[in-house]
Amino acid sequence: MSVDAAIAVFDRNYDAFVEDLGTFLRFQSVSAQSDHAGDMVDCARWISRQLATAGLDAHIVSTDRHPVVLADSGPVPDANAPTLLFYGHYDVQPPGDLKLWESPPFEPTIRNGAIHARGSADDKGQVMTHLTAMRCWRETGMPWPVRVKFLIEGEEEIGSPSLPDVLRKRVDELACDYVVLSDTAKLNAETPSLAYATRGLIYKEIEIEGPRRDLHSGQYGGAVANPGNVLARILAKLQDDSGRITIDGFYDKVRELTDWEKAHLKRAGLTDKQLLAATGCPAPAGEPGYTSAERCTARPTLDVNGLLTGYTGEGAATIIPNRATAKVSMRLVADQDPGTISEAFDQAVRSACPPSVRLSISNHTHCAAYLAPTDSPAMKAAAAALMAAYGKPPVFTREGGTLPILPLFKQILGADSVMLGFSVPDCNLHGPNEFFHVTDFRRGTQCILRFMGLMASSV
Ligand SMILES: [Zn+2]
Repeated sequence: MSVDAAIAVFDRNYDAFVEDLGTFLRFQSVSAQSDHAGDMVDCARWISRQLATAGLDAHIVSTDRHPVVLADSGPVPDANAPTLLFYGHYDVQPPGDLKLWESPPFEPTIRNGAIHARGSADDKGQVMTHLTAMRCWRETGMPWPVRVKFLIEGEEEIGSPSLPDVLRKRVDELACDYVVLSDTAKLNAETPSLAYATRGLIYKEIEIEGPRRDLHSGQYGGAVANPGNVLARILAKLQDDSGRITIDGFYDKVRELTDWEKAHLKRAGLTDKQLLAATGCPAPAGEPGYTSAERCTARPTLDVNGLLTGYTGEGAATIIPNRATAKVSMRLVADQDPGTISEAFDQAVRSACPPSVRLSISNHTHCAAYLAPTDSPAMKAAAAALMAAYGKPPVFTREGGTLPILPLFKQILGADSVMLGFSVPDCNLHGPNEFFHVTDFRRGTQCILRFMGLMASSV
């Protein structure tokens, strides 16, 4: 069978592929730091050469910041075969305090079965499973089972500022049936997972200004509005005592969980016991009628992330502060529209604010939720490929966090995403001593090869 031939290539050349992964990890491709701009270009060129070696037509696109690598296999013999766009990122987070690293962040070192280096899990080690799968397939001499395209960017860790423009300008070049990415984790070391949903995010900053300077509360207290009091009242009006958000129309478009999802979350989702152990909170809290697992993945939220006003130093200072600020975020779910929710939030805050203070609201983040169908041919193929690689069926998960690229791919390319994550959840992502298990490099590459084979026969 053809996929087995490609897997055999991997096994035969295993040492060389691990060495290539080491080369990839040695590039100090830190996107946030401008003195690494040259490393970014070198790294993009190296990826482009890897893709060319795998027989793909690869080229580099420059942006205002860091280059993007694109590649395409071109049309394949089976005209009905789907097109997969493999997405990943070659930029990494800054290594942070070097003293906390057991081995230098850009000198990949294998210990305890894991390759330790900055970017080993996020995302170079996982991107390498894609690149290696292509090289293995090419090596067999067989025609491509599906049309394969690549988009590997260098700005993911700084919020992908150039990506929307690259996608919009190259809709035809990047046209695909599915986007495939490996930038998430498994459920645990032995259990693969398939994430099919992420939450959106709106982030606001509210500023209330009262008197021109802090006032003596004995002299003026009672006759002017206190920005601290006003802000507390506004925030309190956004949510009722049970935790339900009271902004007009907030829940109108929220898609409810299906019975299958509820049953699945009950079986595989976070339990109250796990929640309390992980957080140290005395009791769970949240929207009535939903479990903790549902609340933190499938329900929208409103949270004060920062609150600042008045005197916060030692002892007492009887002032009326001149200003109060709050940072507030909302996690959104399908099918809430970020624009509508953003306006409804502003309206609720404005109508709760008295004329005795000046109010301003600013926006930091604005991103929609993403929800993929779990029964698409790609999800079925992904589940089967994970099953084959790990000997265990994947758990379907909803991510509580936000991945802005997913709604972007859906919106601009019209394609759903398949998230095949191979790292472990505690891989020290963004921290010191980040690692990626070498067995996950092997199983991940096998999984990608099987996925390609299964997708070819899915139509
Ligand atoms: Zn990442």
